[in-house]
Amino acid sequence: MVAEYTYDLAIIGGGIHGVSVAQAAAAKGYSVLLLEQSALAAGTSSRSSKLIHGGLRYLESAQFNVVRECLTERALLLKLAPELVQLIPFYSPIYRNTQRRPWQISIGLNIYRALGGFQQSGEFSRLSHHQWHNLDGLTTDNLNAVFRFWDAQTDDAQLTQAVMRSAQSLGAELVMPAQFIAAELDKTGATLSYQHNGRQHSCRVRTLINAAGPWVNLVLQKITPTTRQCHIDLVQGSHILLPNKLNQGIFYVEAPQDQRAVFLMPWQGNTLIGTTEHHYQGDPAKVQPLPEEESYLMEVAAHYFPHLAALKVIDSFAGLRVLPTANGSPFGRSRETILLTDRSKQPRVLTIYGGKLTAYRAAAEAVLLKLHTTLPERKAIADTRLLPLSPP
Ligand SMILES: Cc1cc2nc3c(=O)[nH]c(=O)nc-3n(C[C@H](O)[C@H](O)[C@H](O)COP(=O)(O)OP(=O)(O)OC[C@H]3O[C@@H](n4cnc5c(N)ncnc54)[C@H](O)[C@@H]3O)c2cc1C
Repeated sequence: MVAEYTYDLAIIGGGIHGVSVAQAAAAKGYSVLLLEQSALAAGTSSRSSKLIHGGLRYLESAQFNVVRECLTERALLLKLAPELVQLIPFYSPIYRNTQRRPWQISIGLNIYRALGGFQQSGEFSRLSHHQWHNLDGLTTDNLNAVFRFWDAQTDDAQLTQAVMRSAQSLGAELVMPAQFIAAELDKTGATLSYQHNGRQHSCRVRTLINAAGPWVNLVLQKITPTTRQCHIDLVQGSHILLPNKLNQGIFYVEAPQDQRAVFLMPWQGNTLIGTTEHHYQGDPAKVQPLPEEESYLMEVAAHYFPHLAALKVIDSFAGLRVLPTANGSPFGRSRETILLTDRSKQPRVLTIYGGKLTAYRAAAEAVLLKLHTTLPERKAIADTRLLPLSPP
């Protein structure tokens, strides 16, 4: 058995979770290798709704810890990455037949504000009637109330790249494109092999981080001996882009078809609308928006902004949520990040399931905490709560 290590940690996947573990581990003084099969943020981390938010709707399913953690991370990112993460007003219109009533939204926003530590960004207001005609053409037929609150927007792919640059500046190594092929676990670590530049490489690591997003269980199939895995559903979420700019901010509406929350957001001079929920089976690399998802989102847009009805979709994309298998609609399922290790006292593999773009830094800290029996003491060289992030 070889006990000499090339790296303390090897990470599979260059999405937000992989790069954030690389940053956190390098900051703690560990040697890190990150393997990404195509490009940074090529998976879900460039196909999200691009919100850095607490997730107001998670209050309905009592996910208070998720909301609190996300709001704490939002506050931190607004400080550390002001060019990448910006506050933006959100508008929540309530009509006569909207399921959520004004008093419910008001209670929700008060709880949201409290969970965010009563910061200025948690302030909200109910617009007066004469402000309604300034809302980018929002229909006012049967409108009862409009609430304005604040959350943040980012460029998810750029944020992922910025975190990787930060990790590299602390010494983490990125190999890309590099496909993880297999790993053999033993008592002292893992021997890993991967394909890069047409050649097979191998190295010895103390621990392996599986941050492969929707590919997560495919990666576990390549690890011997077999290790624990979670049963998951892949749930696709699509967005469409319309050639029209919303000037006031993000509109947070209830889909008339099924009362799900849908966002209409200004995005690079156009309007981004999402998202949907559709069970997915097959190769994660091949996920595509479906025609029925596009019509669903167009119907929502036209219902609230009739002038958008005539526009043609100029782009669309789909991403995959990784959710623990359960019965019923995915809408109310937990968005907590699940960290699963092999059962040994000194885990050799840690797998990341699910999670939020917003809480990536906290998730990475939790990963390292779980590995405290595996990783040796090292002198930290930085603290991720203090590391600025910027675009290139
Ligand atoms: C539709 C949708 C909207 C969302 N909106 C938001 C939002 O607005 N705000 C928010 O906070 N969260 C949001 N989320 C959640 C968030 O986007 C995800 O939790 C996050 O992006 C997942 O990142 P990840 O690193 O785990 O996975 P991914 O970004 O998918 O990264 C996995 C990476 O692993 C690589 N990989 C896979 N297999 C291998 C292999 N064998 N070898 C090498 N590399 C490999 C892939 O190429 C990929 O780049 C949304 C999610 C979805 C689906």
